[in-house]
Amino acid sequence: MSNSIGVKNAVKRFGDVTVIPDLSIEIKNGEFFTLLGPSGCGKTTLLRMIAGFNSIEGGEFSFDEKVINEIPAHKRNIGMVFQNYAIFPHLTVRQNVEYGLKIRKMEKKAMEKRVDDILDVVKIKEYQDRLPEHLSGGQQQRVALARAIVIHPNVLLMDEPLSNLDAKLRIEMRSAIRDVQKQVGITTVYVTHDQEEALAISDRIAVMKGGIIQQVDAPEKIYTRPYNVFVSTFIGHSNLFHGIVVKEEDGIGVQFMDGTKTCLNTLTDVTPGTKVTVGIRPEEFGLSETGILARVKNKTFLGRYIVYELDLPEDMILPGQSSIEFSQDLGQAEKLYEVGETFFLRPNPSKINVFTEDGEKSLI
Ligand code: ATP
Repeated sequence: MSNSIGVKNAVKRFGDVTVIPDLSIEIKNGEFFTLLGPSGCGKTTLLRMIAGFNSIEGGEFSFDEKVINEIPAHKRNIGMVFQNYAIFPHLTVRQNVEYGLKIRKMEKKAMEKRVDDILDVVKIKEYQDRLPEHLSGGQQQRVALARAIVIHPNVLLMDEPLSNLDAKLRIEMRSAIRDVQKQVGITTVYVTHDQEEALAISDRIAVMKGGIIQQVDAPEKIYTRPYNVFVSTFIGHSNLFHGIVVKEEDGIGVQFMDGTKTCLNTLTDVTPGTKVTVGIRPEEFGLSETGILARVKNKTFLGRYIVYELDLPEDMILPGQSSIEFSQDLGQAEKLYEVGETFFLRPNPSKINVFTEDGEKSLI
């Protein structure tokens, strides 16, 4: 039932403004695929093109290899869930879920069975006779999800469905959505600007900027091996250092501006002397007898972690960063530090990311 989705060289313009210049992706059947990027990068525009709500200025959209460019939205058999629920206020939960099947003139017995099954999957059977106004935001979003999947759509498209919920409910609902999606096995395209949500929910993520895809990968890969500096700073925090490639006895390495060196076996095809940008996550430093000298400027207690803001010699780090972040896992820390104290940092060599000097491309 569920379809793969193909997008080949898609172009979208609004008047003279090109929002998507040339975009291609392949989304596998049954995959949970997320479009992630800052506001205005074109996520919703792309989703609406897949749905058939936006005109297409170039390229080819397909479901299971069948081109759909000319098929109108209402014939694409798509399930959609939006931020603002879009359920009928005057109908009960059950009537809302039935609605799409009624207009498709489904036979009564089959319809009852289908609705019962979906109410169970989405865990809202006990509220089936309530009106939406007597439901919480999370419950209303479950109704919207049930409505979208009850019609057995070819693909499920979700646009920031959790934006209206409070932080705790968002976390609960994102695993509910993930469970339902896996149980039903439907290809899902999910739009969000929340990087943590994307990491938690997706099989793969496409990170977008200015209508251009920066990287498509599994969440772990995106976090640990970002393809460029934009991805490394948009997803989680990355400390960015100036570096220079050096040749050591035991292989190629990177030298920081204070003279500290780190050997990197992952860095191969780079000529010694090349200037690079080095990205290091706050949790990927260890403390050592020697290394990069840092002084605690500020500390924030976050429960499991303490995040330190550290002062370093200014010429070591990229402009725009006044300090770097170092996080200590409280379960493992032998000593905690106070503002003003100094220590030496050693980056974990296997976790360092090295980019071209302009930050456009990973060299690892
Ligand atoms: P957000 O997270 O804020 O929803 P987004 O990544 O989904 O952002 P889009 O809504 O796809 O971004 O918008 C991409 C760009 O296209 C924006 O610059 C927006 O102003 C522009 N745009 C979107 N729809 C239209 C329209 N109907 N007419 C003109 N410009 C539009």
